[in-house]
Amino acid sequence: MPKDIRTRFAPSPTGMLHIGGLRTALYEYLWARKNNGKFILRIEDTDVKRSVAGSLENIVQIFDEFKLTADEGPYWDNGIKERGDYGPYLQSKRLDLYKQHAHQLVAKGAAYHCFCSEERLKRLREDQQAKKQPPKYDKHCLNLSASEVKAKLEQSEGHVIRLNVKPGEKIGFEDVIHGKIEIMSDEVDDQILIKSDSYPTYHLAVVVDDYLMKISHVIRADEWISSTPKHILLYRAFGWELPVFVHLPPILSKVTGKKLAKREGEVSVRSFLDKGYLPEAILNFIAFQGWNPKSTQEVFNLRELVQEFSLEKLNKSGAIFDLDKLDWYNSHYIRDLDISELTAKLTPYLKQADINPENYSQEFIQKILALEQARLKKLSEIGERVRYFFEDPSYEQGLLIWKKSTKESILKSLESLQVFLQSLPSNKFKKNNLEDQIKKFIQDRGLKTGEVLWPLRVALTGLEASPGPFEIMDVFGVLENGKEIILKRVNTAIEKLF
Ligand code: GLU
Repeated sequence: MPKDIRTRFAPSPTGMLHIGGLRTALYEYLWARKNNGKFILRIEDTDVKRSVAGSLENIVQIFDEFKLTADEGPYWDNGIKERGDYGPYLQSKRLDLYKQHAHQLVAKGAAYHCFCSEERLKRLREDQQAKKQPPKYDKHCLNLSASEVKAKLEQSEGHVIRLNVKPGEKIGFEDVIHGKIEIMSDEVDDQILIKSDSYPTYHLAVVVDDYLMKISHVIRADEWISSTPKHILLYRAFGWELPVFVHLPPILSKVTGKKLAKREGEVSVRSFLDKGYLPEAILNFIAFQGWNPKSTQEVFNLRELVQEFSLEKLNKSGAIFDLDKLDWYNSHYIRDLDISELTAKLTPYLKQADINPENYSQEFIQKILALEQARLKKLSEIGERVRYFFEDPSYEQGLLIWKKSTKESILKSLESLQVFLQSLPSNKFKKNNLEDQIKKFIQDRGLKTGEVLWPLRVALTGLEASPGPFEIMDVFGVLENGKEIILKRVNTAIEKLF
């Protein structure tokens, strides 16, 4: 294994960071931390046409929110800043370096200028298609003499620089997950290194930067595995040592079984955060999307992941993206929050649902949130779950009828409950107190528990499922007018049953 472990996450700013990208970044981060190495963030923004405004900010802010601190590269500090000794870390600021390196290869005869027009290349492709040959550049410009090339360059003729791939060479590398991979150079095109807009291609830039930034492990999605032989040829042409390659298995949709589509908005990391998945839960969940610990432990914080992570336990086959499991992790981490953290995290979601917690006492709000804490899967569910505490619910009469009982018997039990509740002093509206009293009332009157508690719960919430009536009344009990609210709702239910 290389001595100094340096990993890098190298996203292209072509849209919102995707959950698969975050997983790649997480594994790179874990491997670097585990080995006291360095984790680098590098932005591959040389495809000007595909760059999307705001994506750089999105990536850097998400790193910040997830505490995936990169030792080098851009980072968030009220704006984008950069640190590290191997910068700049935005490829668009390194254009001269790529040109210099491409020219080194030209000087060595390992690369050449190509002046072919789009039309010629198109004809060539069509010809090859007709002959059922793989599309490949035919090295036409390799035959130009040095003076012809010079003359064309002096006349500023449009051109690219291509790698001169020699046929008959074996290209092999050892991937940590996939093992030995070998192809013949005949399958590889004379790939473009510098485009006609004088920007480098991904292939050139990635190899030059991984080398100059002393990257020891290239950990990336397996969609890049077919590009790796091209990169190997470049390493050879430069005479550089290869990094270790690790191509991660894909993440598959549970519904289609196909690769999770990269640019679908709903798989962007931001959309998961907006729905109210906690960063800790997302990280824990994605850690398992392609890796398993040695034990059966499922819950790991970032520090524990660093300890436990190993490249040997990465899987070869695709990981199924199971949202139920993500919900499970999220519930777990929500349950772990203390009440003030929970309140702080839920406040924006309450406000989104037009509930302003600042208009109520802290005790009332915290009791409500504590009641829901164990039931929440996502923070964004909170508004709809607790709305009945803030406004009278609306519901259909039928919801009041418990199982096989009748409208008449429900009406009767609610009416006597109403009289009973009226007789209780306001300060008795506390859970334990109330529970005992109502249970006694049910017994004394010979009523059926379900015929009282079910319609009472519905009257209070208007919901098919909610916490139990005693817990809810206990929350209302902290309000000055708690008793009134409860009686008003019981009254509304009675009216609905007439
Ligand atoms: N810029 C590439 C991407 O966005 C990086 C591929 C690599 O890690 O080499 O996926």
